Amino acid sequence: MMTVKRNVTEALEALRELSAAGQALKADGELEEERGKRMEKINILVSACLLGLDCRYSGTGKYIAELEELKEEFQFIPVCPEQLGGLPTPRSPVEITEGRAVNKEGADCTEQFKKGAQEAGKLAGYFNCRVALLKANSPSCGFGRIYDGSFSGKLIEGNGITAELLHKKGLRIYSEKDLKDLKDLKDVKKLKDVKKLKDLKDQ
Ligand code: SF4
Repeated sequence: MMTVKRNVTEALEALRELSAAGQALKADGELEEERGKRMEKINILVSACLLGLDCRYSGTGKYIAELEELKEEFQFIPVCPEQLGGLPTPRSPVEITEGRAVNKEGADCTEQFKKGAQEAGKLAGYFNCRVALLKANSPSCGFGRIYDGSFSGKLIEGNGITAELLHKKGLRIYSEKDLKDLKDLKDVKKLKDVKKLKDLKDQ
């Protein structure tokens, strides 16, 4: 009888141990799942000034607080093409005139702008960014509308030099003015129709 009792006790003990091991395994599984979720974050190339970096020509940033909400789903890859192209901060403002990047004093900065665009393209490739969130109206980052070259605040149709390269490369471009559309990409399935990046050698 005692033997049976001991066996039942032992069996219960063994069950408790098994249960504890099961809980640990479950916890490991949850951890893996969480890791998996983090790996699934969508990499987005972002104009660094929108994240609050003081990289603009004026030596200031253009922080967009709404981006905080998107951190859970998106992995931001900050980039400032004008700095990457070798321009100083602060610097003279630049606008696009007849395809050239020219500053307010008339100096041509096109080569630095092109270099910055190429570097941004490399980062997009390295991090497999299929989407970019770029500062509106900038001669580097603006997409669809940029300043007209007269330094009078007038906007015209056109793309900044980096935005143009990233667009050609196949990235889907958003600006801080269409964050709502960007938020919709939290549904990863909607990324399915975002094209794969073209080879950098194509540029
Ligand atoms: S180049 Fe782009 S990231 Fe850099 S300051 Fe201008 S808009 Fe911002």
